Amino acid sequence: MIPLPVDLVLVFFVGVPLAITGLLALFYSLRSMHKPARERESIYECAHCGHVYAFARNRPMDRCPRCGELNEAVRM
Ligand SMILES: [Zn+2]
Repeated sequence: MIPLPVDLVLVFFVGVPLAITGLLALFYSLRSMHKPARERESIYECAHCGHVYAFARNRPMDRCPRCGELNEAVRM
């Protein structure tokens, strides 16, 4: 068996997992800054036919896909 210095063993078994955990924490915190698609959608309710629809575009008004009526966003 090869004799290993204690400080090298400590660096390897503590430092490497700690570095990996730190990188994963950084990755997930950066990823959570992007909102999921559902939160980016605007919801519209058609005043003409009552159809409820959602678009991922951030517009105050959009056309109803069913009848073409222009409607205001209920929730942005
Ligand atoms: Zn409509």
